[in-house]
Amino acid sequence: MNDITTPQKWDRLKRPSVDYMDDKLGIPFPVLDKGFIRIIDYMGDEAAICQAARVSYGKGTKSVSEDRGLLRYLLRHWHTTPFEMCEIKLHVKLPVFVARQWIRHRTANVNEHSARYSILANEFFFPDAADIEAQSKTNHQGRGGELPEEMRFGMTDTIEQVSEMAFDTYEEMLTGWPWVDDTGELWEDSGDAHPHDKKLGMARELARMVLPTNIYTEWYWKVDAHNLLHFLRLRADPHAQREIRVYAEVICQIFENWMPNVWEAFVDYQLEAVSFSRAEIENLLLLVDKDRAAQQFVHPSMSRGEHKEYLKKLGVQDAE
Ligand SMILES: Cc1cc2nc3c(=O)[nH]c(=O)nc-3n(C[C@H](O)[C@H](O)[C@H](O)COP(=O)(O)OP(=O)(O)OC[C@H]3O[C@@H](n4cnc5c(N)ncnc54)[C@H](O)[C@@H]3O)c2cc1C
Repeated sequence: MNDITTPQKWDRLKRPSVDYMDDKLGIPFPVLDKGFIRIIDYMGDEAAICQAARVSYGKGTKSVSEDRGLLRYLLRHWHTTPFEMCEIKLHVKLPVFVARQWIRHRTANVNEHSARYSILANEFFFPDAADIEAQSKTNHQGRGGELPEEMRFGMTDTIEQVSEMAFDTYEEMLTGWPWVDDTGELWEDSGDAHPHDKKLGMARELARMVLPTNIYTEWYWKVDAHNLLHFLRLRADPHAQREIRVYAEVICQIFENWMPNVWEAFVDYQLEAVSFSRAEIENLLLLVDKDRAAQQFVHPSMSRGEHKEYLKKLGVQDAE
């Protein structure tokens, strides 16, 4: 049997680390009025993705430029599992209505603050009056169209009042006030001031139902780089609701610093790329001057391999 501890055969490894990520560990990036994202931990870097991809044909790490080419190739051809080798764990504070959209992304691990166990803090999201818009007439799911300034400010005031009232009711439910006195007897005169005693009221798991969805919650969210990019593609998109998009935009910034080449490839091949239907392609190909395409114009960002793939898509024989 082979001795797997033989030093000549196995190199000792160091944990991959990225200076930017280490510098930012634990520091909150503010989002919305009271929310944040903090990096709690991360695993892996771009070299780890290349290392995983190359294990399939037994080659180790190569030069930085070869790594960049490989990363771009993997992303362009939807080789997803190497990207799943890297993970990030975030601590996120977010309004419940944003969390409801976020939690739909099933390919992550989540631990949320329990409102059955703990009493929620009196923290609600209040939108800026500038972000309040009318229901869009073209997109049933979105906003679009101005509302009078007076109305927008009036609405923000109302949101604050309703939230405050809801939190007062939540506390009343928890304490039992104004229904009982401090001995637990039913309180006859509900108009009198009365000390709150948290033991006398409704269970937390029930009392929370009176709270609106702009109350803040918190969770730890762990996801791998492949599924994180999928999340960002959907939630950093202009079609996503602004209040989740601003979180996605902060994560985009983190990702770009964590894995700049992967980020560049993601922007080139997914975020800013479009796909065409079969009919659209057939139409487009009628317009392409194949001879010209074969002879000329190599986009400066394209590698030789990429240019070949591009010509193939156009049904053009490589000029070589
Ligand atoms: C702009 C926008 C509008 C939306 N509107 C609505 C709406 O009106 N109503 C609504 O209900 N949702 C809505 N959603 C949520 C959306 O339908 C998805 O649930 C959400 O974006 C998560 O995407 P996902 O399933 O691809 O992600 P993940 O859950 O992270 O899954 C990633 C991928 O893994 C695979 N996968 C995961 N779990 C399974 C499984 N059980 N079986 C098979 N494959 C699986 C799929 O390929 C999936 O794409 C909206 C999302 C966006 C971005």
